[in-house]
Amino acid sequence: MQEAKFYKRLNDKSLQCTACNQYCVIKEGDTGICSVRQNVDGKLMLLAYGNAVGVAIDPIEKKPFYHFMPGKQSLSFGTLGCNFECLFCQNWDMSQQSKMIREQLQKEKRLHELDYEIGEFGYSMSPNMIVDECRIKKIPIIAYTYNEPTVFFEYAYDTIMRTKDKKTGIRNVFVSNGYESIEVIGKMKGKVDAINIDLKSFNDDFYRKVCHARLQPVLDTIKECHKLGIWIEITTLVIPGHNDSDEEFKDIAEFIASINTDIPWHISAFHPMYKMKDIPATRKESLERAYEIGKRAGLHNVYIGNVMDEKRSSTYCPKCGAIVIRRNGFSSEMVNFKDGRCSSCNEKIAGIWE
Ligand code: SF4
Repeated sequence: MQEAKFYKRLNDKSLQCTACNQYCVIKEGDTGICSVRQNVDGKLMLLAYGNAVGVAIDPIEKKPFYHFMPGKQSLSFGTLGCNFECLFCQNWDMSQQSKMIREQLQKEKRLHELDYEIGEFGYSMSPNMIVDECRIKKIPIIAYTYNEPTVFFEYAYDTIMRTKDKKTGIRNVFVSNGYESIEVIGKMKGKVDAINIDLKSFNDDFYRKVCHARLQPVLDTIKECHKLGIWIEITTLVIPGHNDSDEEFKDIAEFIASINTDIPWHISAFHPMYKMKDIPATRKESLERAYEIGKRAGLHNVYIGNVMDEKRSSTYCPKCGAIVIRRNGFSSEMVNFKDGRCSSCNEKIAGIWE
């Protein structure tokens, strides 16, 4: 564990964490919502620092990023802990694990042992070790993913700084729920190269009841990251009966288009998971419907995911309509594309390609 950087002291020995928009007020001995930031003797400690979980080498398309270094591998990792509690979480065994441990320890009046219990998960990996692993294996991207990177931001940030100090050229990408505080977003400028933000719904009620969060901070983060020049892609997991109406798809698509019509929108299929095991998997027709609505809203780059569909997961030139990147599953093939441009009409294709 390591002392967190994002917090302030309040009058009564409580601390306020400022890493995410939950802005938890944390009494002595207790933790914030994510259960990996704990008030230990008047200091906010990040228990998950140096404890990487789910370490894997994944194609960047799996994150998903479709307009960021296609075909390249990423070293992906997360930690325990999340600032949301999505009932459909596809990685709940990581994201919600620290909360389950915390509850158990609290019952047993052993909350002071939380750091030790969290350390039992994953691998002990310093920022240096992560960067060296990438250099040895020639992996050009580090993806901070699986759980919300904001809750382990200091660990992620130190890793990013190692990639810079060592002049490795390694790129850093976040896969995020968009709940970064404005303080954290300020630190991401020039450090985080790309971010995929989940826009889970356009309905505040959904965010409150299903995720234990709010919609507006997510919308603000998307706008702010775009303003800072961080490459953004957006993902919506479509859950039958919860966020799959035409109206909701239209609201999401129009919001993205109002920022920039080049921002890719990934529409993904849900599979029954965690506390939503009773909800059926998403039908492909719903994804196709969202795809058409996205296109009608003027978005140039709409993709459907978690299902096989070459037509709706490939990239087309926004000017002449030629296919430029053909995708099948997680593989990408440049078919009509050179130096970031369509080979047919020379139109620039938005993204970071090298
Ligand atoms: S990261 Fe967010 S959820 Fe975790 S303690 Fe800080 S404010 Fe609370």
